[in-house]
Amino acid sequence: MPAYNKILIAVDSSDEAIGVLKQAAEIIEMYKAEAEVLHVAQSPTMAYGPWGEYVPLLHEDQIQERLEERLNERMVDAGLAHIPSKVVFGLPVDTVVRKANEGNVDLIIVGSHGRHGIRLLLGSTANGILHHAGCDVLAVRIRETIDG
Ligand code: AMP
Repeated sequence: MPAYNKILIAVDSSDEAIGVLKQAAEIIEMYKAEAEVLHVAQSPTMAYGPWGEYVPLLHEDQIQERLEERLNERMVDAGLAHIPSKVVFGLPVDTVVRKANEGNVDLIIVGSHGRHGIRLLLGSTANGILHHAGCDVLAVRIRETIDG
């Protein structure tokens, strides 16, 4: 098994992220690796404003602030408060793969559900990252609270 020096942990905004972060914490410790946590946010939803103009319901910086707060809380819970994290806007698969390439990352950690058998073991984001990444990808099994 290769030694990993630079690890990127990709998390979504669901509560499942905490499980991925906890498992990642063990792996980072095991390899004494440099690490960064990344969440890719969706651009704001648009709606009609009072004068019929098309405006975002929330501005990007408001969304980013809230997502960063939530991510920071989860990182503290997972014992990863010392690791840098980023929330950026974009397409999840493209953004995670690009950031990994730019940062010379040698391992990307994602979550996988695994509740529907082997074919649907990975969700579409995790699957896309696995197929487009230029480095190893580790899919951490997300435990279900209700067995499906
Ligand atoms: P999915 O493929 O959507 O079931 O998500 C599986 C895993 O892909 C998640 O546990 C994360 O590791 C990663 N992922 C999904 N969406 C995002 C996102 N918006 N930003 C970063 N990683 C994500």
